[in-house]
Amino acid sequence: MVRTSPLVFDGHNDTLLDLLNDRSGDRSFFEASDRGHLDLPRAQEAGFGGGFFALFVPGEGDLDPVATDDGYEVPYSPPVRPDYAAAVTDELLDLLATIESDAAGKVRIARTAAELRDCFEAGSLVALPHLEGAEAVRPDLSNLTDLYDAGVRSIGLVWSRENAFGHGVPFRCPASPDIGPGLTDAGRDLVRACNDLGIVVDCAHLNERGFWDVADLSNAPLVVTHTAAHALCPSSRNLTDDQLDAVADAGGVVGVTFGVSALRPDGAFDPDTPLSVLADHVEYVADRLGPEHVALGSDFDGAMIPDPLGDVRGLPALFDELRSRGFDEEALEKIAHDNWFRVLEETLTA
Ligand SMILES: [Zn+2]
Repeated sequence: MVRTSPLVFDGHNDTLLDLLNDRSGDRSFFEASDRGHLDLPRAQEAGFGGGFFALFVPGEGDLDPVATDDGYEVPYSPPVRPDYAAAVTDELLDLLATIESDAAGKVRIARTAAELRDCFEAGSLVALPHLEGAEAVRPDLSNLTDLYDAGVRSIGLVWSRENAFGHGVPFRCPASPDIGPGLTDAGRDLVRACNDLGIVVDCAHLNERGFWDVADLSNAPLVVTHTAAHALCPSSRNLTDDQLDAVADAGGVVGVTFGVSALRPDGAFDPDTPLSVLADHVEYVADRLGPEHVALGSDFDGAMIPDPLGDVRGLPALFDELRSRGFDEEALEKIAHDNWFRVLEETLTA
């Protein structure tokens, strides 16, 4: 089979939680399903070679958007208890380890950048374990090396809620990401500790003051695994032009999310969204920062994505859309995986 689009390493998915929550038990990572967005057979068909796999701890908040005069907001999610977060994180890590051992080499957990590239190029689906929200890390960081030893190589400081380390942005549109104070002392310590250990610090969902704190403190390339351009969709979860510029200045990368509420100019949760709206964000970031600083951060199994994409098998159609806008194959390879690999090679030590 001749591959017609580049192999993808992706900035974000929530597939592990979706599998864990699958009480009916009829969804397996090893069988193509008509539910969800991602499993091994569909990934292989689509040219999805791996990505950050989120270890996300769901909270108790109600996530239904409430209409406002000019858009919507979702009530701010309450914090989650750290011991509960640690238990869920362990369950998700166990699930990923089980998938790896059942996969007979077809799925590999990457612990170093070299391992990641080797497995990716050998055709395994590679998973980089990522905490989406650092609630499982004790505020005194006493279990951070345990999480590192368990395979965690990327930490998003916050989800859309507050924790011991910082403040997340709520789901709100139109709204600025400049909501609330910057990182706590524990958050600043966590950034330095991640730099020392070689763990990615992800600024996705971090409020703007927290973002600037990371930009000041971190000695690694700035990373935002799944977000979009505030100039095109004024969601509080998106990056302003100044934030985008800071990512490029720090040699980092922005993963463009496929979540429609972060892409559409009206911010609506409406899957009837053409692929061109997603491509607009990729093009905007590439035009502003250069193609070295844009990548994909799908949010498969974690967000409502455009109907024309459907699931992971829609990736080739996205590349066709980008080709039609003048992106050449070299730029598409960067966006598809090379930019993530560059940043991970600079960030993951060992
Ligand atoms: Zn997210």
